[in-house]
Amino acid sequence: MSYEAVIGLEIHAELNTRTKMFCDSLNDPDEKHPNVNICPVCMGHPGTLPVANREAIKKMIQIGLALGGEIAAFSQFDRKNYFYPDLPKGYQISQYEHPIVRGGVLDIGGKQIRIQRVHLEEDTGRLVHSTNLADWRRPNAEERGNILCASASSQRESATLVDFNRAGVPLMELVTEPDFRTGEEVRKFGEEFQLILRTIGASHADMEKGEMRVEANVSIRKEGETVLGTKIEVKNINSFKFAEDAVNYEIKRQQEILEGGGEIKQATRGWDEKKRATVHQRFKEESHDYRYFPEPDLPPLEISQGEIEEARASLPELPAQKRGRFQNEYGIDEKLVGVLVRDGALADYFEKAVSELAAWDTKEKSGVRLLANYLTSDFLKLLNEVSASAGDTRVTPENFAELVHYIHDGKISSAAAKSVLKEMFATGEEPDVIIEQKKLWQVSDEAQLASFVDKALSQNPEAVAEFAKGKGATLQFLVGQVMKEARGAANPQVVAKLLKEKLS
Ligand code: ADP
Ligand code: MG
Repeated sequence: MSYEAVIGLEIHAELNTRTKMFCDSLNDPDEKHPNVNICPVCMGHPGTLPVANREAIKKMIQIGLALGGEIAAFSQFDRKNYFYPDLPKGYQISQYEHPIVRGGVLDIGGKQIRIQRVHLEEDTGRLVHSTNLADWRRPNAEERGNILCASASSQRESATLVDFNRAGVPLMELVTEPDFRTGEEVRKFGEEFQLILRTIGASHADMEKGEMRVEANVSIRKEGETVLGTKIEVKNINSFKFAEDAVNYEIKRQQEILEGGGEIKQATRGWDEKKRATVHQRFKEESHDYRYFPEPDLPPLEISQGEIEEARASLPELPAQKRGRFQNEYGIDEKLVGVLVRDGALADYFEKAVSELAAWDTKEKSGVRLLANYLTSDFLKLLNEVSASAGDTRVTPENFAELVHYIHDGKISSAAAKSVLKEMFATGEEPDVIIEQKKLWQVSDEAQLASFVDKALSQNPEAVAEFAKGKGATLQFLVGQVMKEARGAANPQVVAKLLKEKLS
């Protein structure tokens, strides 16, 4: 019996606004001290009132537009009631029946994944299971002006502590239709959506920091069946690779249960990377357990056509558009375009370098393709070694374009280019200076090369004879001999051309 997997995603991402969702406490994911960015509103003190953050709403509209979703003219905040120590108010302000965004699609390389909704809510605080209470303290006076210090003075060696810096940070939740069939599709969706969030500047969307969180709902059904199977929700996934692995693991686990005559009971499981398995957490709560009701302290949210158009006008070029443009404008192949566009800083660098190529009169598509090739191979490798972004290497786009021009015009060999680029990364020096210093200029002048060619031919009569008998491979050997004569500083294409002329 063969089974088909059905998967739907719920993705949370913290929006990178200046302040929190309903108050003016700072939204600073890099804050090291606990409980600094808090105020009576996000701490849920009685008598305080929330005010919605306009910047967060604009980012939501842009996310919706980027996905081709419909922006609701009328939407509403609701209270989702539950108790947990990281939730100061005893409820989370979220959106239930009237999300800001409905519908939309995201293309993951040929397959369209439909979006159900994207809504806006607030994040919770963070529980810290600390074994070292000495680290848990308010900043001292020196560190933070004159704020009153209250060091933890517990006698216990360990405790669970709460940091509310994150409580009330704007959080978007995207829910897809159950359109995925494999773990790989899930990974691709996560990567593409992260890229969109970063491109429009809505979120840093760092999975490791918890700024973006993926939950996968996984079920399986018999091939040909139209009714959905019982789903298992998988949480605790902190990379896209883990998402792929967790989904694939879960598909296999469910299949084994059904094949053994068992039954799937709806539950939440967590991905345990050490065990490389999903593990049971709890049986699933129903939405009616949360007693959703409209948030009485906030007016309904009305979004005008003008606001939508304004948000649309300030949308940057999206990854899918950029891929299409790079392919058309520069004639580089799909795979390289994928690598370039995946990294916004690298794509910008590429475009700057291409415009610099023109200054070197290397305007042909072949020059641009060569540049894209070097950028996505040698350059990217060196970049990863120093874990830097393309935006802040010592190699300027001008210098990089100059190097590519030398390779393209045969002025240096590709082997030499490797060592020159390495030197450029280390010192920021200009390529011509390095090539000059290391004596790597390659001779392309036919008159200059003729004597090396003659010498190689007269020293290798057997090879010449074999070539005459029709053994074409001998040409490569002779090129090698000339290169040796020229101590590597000859252009192999020109050498091959001269050899052929002389041999015929
Ligand atoms: P819940 O109320 O349990 O959160 P939802 O209906 O809101 O469930 O769906 C949550 C996510 O799970 C969505 O992405 C949806 O596409 C997906 N989903 C719903 N039912 C299934 C199923 N049987 N198998 C796989 N995914 C499902
Ligand atoms: Mg749900």
